[in-house]
Amino acid sequence: MKIEESKVLFEKSREYFPGGVNSPVRAFGSVGGVPVFVKRASGSHIYDEDGNEYIDYVNSWGPCILGHAWGPVVEAVREACLDGLSFGAPTRKELVLGGLIRECMPSMEMMRMVSSGTEAVMSAIRAARGYTGRDKIIKFKGCYHGHSDGLLVKAGSGALTGSAPDSAGVPASYTEHTLLAQYNDESSVKKLFSEYPDDIGALVVEPVAANMGLVPPKPGFLEFLRDITAKYGTLLIFDEVITGFRMGLGGAQGYYGVVPDLTTLGKIAGGGMPMGVYGGKREIMEVVSPLGRVYQAGTLSGNPVATAAGIATIRALMERPEIYPTLEERAGRLVKSLREALPDTWVNQAGSLFSLFFTKNPVVDYDTALASDTVKYGIFFHYLLDHGIYTAPSQFEILFLSAAHTDEDIEKTCGIIKKAAGSLS
Ligand SMILES: *Cc1c(COP(=O)(O)O)cnc(C)c1O
Repeated sequence: MKIEESKVLFEKSREYFPGGVNSPVRAFGSVGGVPVFVKRASGSHIYDEDGNEYIDYVNSWGPCILGHAWGPVVEAVREACLDGLSFGAPTRKELVLGGLIRECMPSMEMMRMVSSGTEAVMSAIRAARGYTGRDKIIKFKGCYHGHSDGLLVKAGSGALTGSAPDSAGVPASYTEHTLLAQYNDESSVKKLFSEYPDDIGALVVEPVAANMGLVPPKPGFLEFLRDITAKYGTLLIFDEVITGFRMGLGGAQGYYGVVPDLTTLGKIAGGGMPMGVYGGKREIMEVVSPLGRVYQAGTLSGNPVATAAGIATIRALMERPEIYPTLEERAGRLVKSLREALPDTWVNQAGSLFSLFFTKNPVVDYDTALASDTVKYGIFFHYLLDHGIYTAPSQFEILFLSAAHTDEDIEKTCGIIKKAAGSLS
């Protein structure tokens, strides 16, 4: 495979951007080699600057659930652009998108739109602290909630190395109120509540952990979190930036039937445009300015082009709910083929989300995820890439299917997985 053009672009980009990229995982740091520079994408395929074609399982990290450049979404964006790109004033589109979101996720009685998942979670935590008057929060090792200072502690995927805080430039005092628990481990949560019964304002969790590879919640774990937070007067925040509109129209909260106090959305909610949303119980959201004393604002928040993409995406999903069982079945076929081809690995799946770990032992939390052989992952990744299958350039990211993936795409991928396994042994 020729990637000369990508090589040249990457070399030049390294002069302009740290590591040549504008978000770290894109640099291929953990798998080695040169990142392919994407020229365009259509349906389930991306095309690079050298003219190579790939079946894409990164899917912009989740947003393009209907496939790349899907007609009705592109059309909605084009139409919105013609009416102006941004006004800094309220619009009918925000109301329409808010209405669709609440229809799908009734727990989001009142919400605020922002421009990224990072902003959504940062702001939800501020609202929770403002509402409860408590400073401490609980997060889980290996869960990623964006790159705001207080959450860069054992933050998964791009930040999956180092200690607390994960990042230089974050004063220890910024993370001193961030308490760490182990995903799927009730006792680690109970311990923190017994230590700080009156101080924990919020517990934030990915209801399906998807930033340490995929780790589904054990049966009863989300119910346990719901009960213990209610008992201590702590707000339960589901970070559904990945799972929202991915596990189903009602997100993970609909899928598992556990309702949080606050929810954060991103990725699919903007259909490929920058968008984040946080919301929940009206009484809690009423602390947000200008109604309440928790300040939060944004020049481009509720942007008309982004809301247009979100509306078109969510409407399409509501009109075609059969997308979800179809995605889950196709994911199941890929999972089966991975398990058969690579018997010494572990594969987790929840709905249409799945990921492969190069370890024999069950992966149920951060520590067991770290047992994965990342060198083997890198070899496997490059074999797939060389054969036209574009997957996440990191062991700790997951694979995303879209409605545009065809049976033919899946079959072709299964065939290449088989050959890749042969090349590993
Ligand atoms: C992607 C992600 C975020 C951050 O969203 P950005 O739009 O990248 O800022 C937050 N939480 C989860 C669970 C995510 O997967």
